[in-house]
Amino acid sequence: MQILINVCTHGDEQIGLQVVERLKQLDVLTSSTTVLVANEAALKADVRFIETDLNRSFPGDPGGSLEEQLAHSLRPTISAADVVLDIHSTKSDLKDAIIVTKLTPKTLEYIQVIGPRNLIFMNIGTGTALISQAKIGIAFEYGQDTEESAIAATTEGIERLVRHLEQPQSTPTQNDTRMMNIFEVYSDAKRPEGYTILPSVHNYMRIEKGEPYATNDTDYIFAEEAFYPILFGEKTYKTYFGFKAHKLSLEEVNKILQPDAEKFDR
Ligand SMILES: [Zn+2]
Repeated sequence: MQILINVCTHGDEQIGLQVVERLKQLDVLTSSTTVLVANEAALKADVRFIETDLNRSFPGDPGGSLEEQLAHSLRPTISAADVVLDIHSTKSDLKDAIIVTKLTPKTLEYIQVIGPRNLIFMNIGTGTALISQAKIGIAFEYGQDTEESAIAATTEGIERLVRHLEQPQSTPTQNDTRMMNIFEVYSDAKRPEGYTILPSVHNYMRIEKGEPYATNDTDYIFAEEAFYPILFGEKTYKTYFGFKAHKLSLEEVNKILQPDAEKFDR
């Protein structure tokens, strides 16, 4: 079982470095775990990316942008690991969220061990994100770099999962104490120039059909259908507000489960 702990996919999200420090202190990093700093150049420059967003640059291109070349060279490492844990931070008010691009039985089992309040299934643009190249890819978005609660919860979730993977009997696979909300992202929400999100809008809080959710102070944008805003924020993306999602029941999740990767060694 090889577990890849990936940090700094976005160079200005440095929470992963602190999490890795804590995992070291807790003796969680063993021979079955590898730590990868994905975008060293962006980390040094303290920017999200140098030329193109690495998390939109997969599968990569040896003749492409700096990040497309990087994606191309990282890809074998990412697809060789049994599990890839990709640690991000977020400036949106999204808290305690796990993001996946594939929903498989093993992925769900591992997420239940981690025990987040919210699971986001990104069912758009799959194939360009780092975790999409993994057999099982799980991204953490628990809060801001400087938030102690985000650092602690990310560390705790990874610790639980690593211990579970090394010794499956040691931790319960089901976290009964917390109900997990599962959201399926089906679209981005385009941001026309000059528009900002209304203060009434909060991540994970349903927006009804016909409800306004953004304004340029003269006009409003109304929801064409009811949706859940995900990763909505003023500091996150320039050309879109965030993403639109449906909330899924466990039954619906079971219906859309994809098979686990073949040759999975457990
Ligand atoms: Zn990120």
